[in-house]
Amino acid sequence: MIDLRSDTITQPTPEMREAMATAPVGDDVFGEDPTVNALEEQVAELLGKEAAVYMPTGTMTNQVSVRTHTQPGDEVFMAGNAHIYHYEGGAPSALSGVICKLLPEKRGIFTADDLELAISPDNPHFPAPRLVSVENTSNRGSGSIWPLQSIQEVEKMARKHGLKMHMDGARLWNASVATGISEKEYASYFDSISVCFSKGLGAPVGSALAGSAEFIHRARRFRKQFGGSMRQAGIIAAGALHALNHHRARLAEDNANAKMLAEGLSNLPGVELDPNLVETNIVIFNITSVSAPELEKRLREHEVLVLAVSATSIRGVTNLSISSEEIPQVIDAVRKCL
Ligand SMILES: *Cc1c(COP(=O)(O)O)cnc(C)c1O
Repeated sequence: MIDLRSDTITQPTPEMREAMATAPVGDDVFGEDPTVNALEEQVAELLGKEAAVYMPTGTMTNQVSVRTHTQPGDEVFMAGNAHIYHYEGGAPSALSGVICKLLPEKRGIFTADDLELAISPDNPHFPAPRLVSVENTSNRGSGSIWPLQSIQEVEKMARKHGLKMHMDGARLWNASVATGISEKEYASYFDSISVCFSKGLGAPVGSALAGSAEFIHRARRFRKQFGGSMRQAGIIAAGALHALNHHRARLAEDNANAKMLAEGLSNLPGVELDPNLVETNIVIFNITSVSAPELEKRLREHEVLVLAVSATSIRGVTNLSISSEEIPQVIDAVRKCL
């Protein structure tokens, strides 16, 4: 099977398993797991922040961040297609009691003006505006990268209104590899950053939240409340650490494979896709001759796994398990199935 459903499906490599098997561990709730500590220090350093904290999932790092930045009744601004709103089980309202205000977006990117228009006046009728979340790269935006200038403008507007800035950087690594803009530079506009090790980096488990020492200190209490404090977590953190040090640069291959896939698909009759808009490892295309669920089913018979993300659109995500030699096979399978 050529599995393009997500970049979460990867298996740990033998070297990663070895690193996990031999990692020194301790009780992380006591702060005594050397591997978790090393991972947290490295992530903080990489993102140019004072501290970071390891958690089981990116949903948890995002939601702990929302909880740490806000009070119940506060308002959190994000793109209308944001992962935090769509794919995290309604957590902002369930766990933090906040209101999400969804902004108009193009491929997951909104403007400073969109943000300013949405900010409620300081008046007891309205929720208190508190936090802005930027998703880079944007998942439902087809892996789009936020231009640095858009981030700068949104940040300036947020500061003008006294708002905090969070980045959902589950795939920030893919953006940095594509643009050459460091993770640290992207992170410098944000109070908190969530990054995932279990997506393109290929680790089996985990995400980290980075920010100021004071912010991360408070976030640790919410991680505990949400049930995310683990004991000998070095076993899994070792996989994340290995991924960070060995799989980050190779994301360029995933980005290039996605481009190759998009270019091939865009030449097929019945496929709607602009390959110039594929910037990282996510390819979303529209089809006209069959339904997306039907194409997903047919492709499975050709040993290609993709996800129908709407009635008319299909998503393929290149990842560690996909080699460039397999891309022409995928294109050929789509051609046959259409
Ligand atoms: C995958 C993802 C997350 C986190 O997902 P988990 O499965 O909870 O680790 C967060 N944000 C974005 C944009 C993602 O793609």
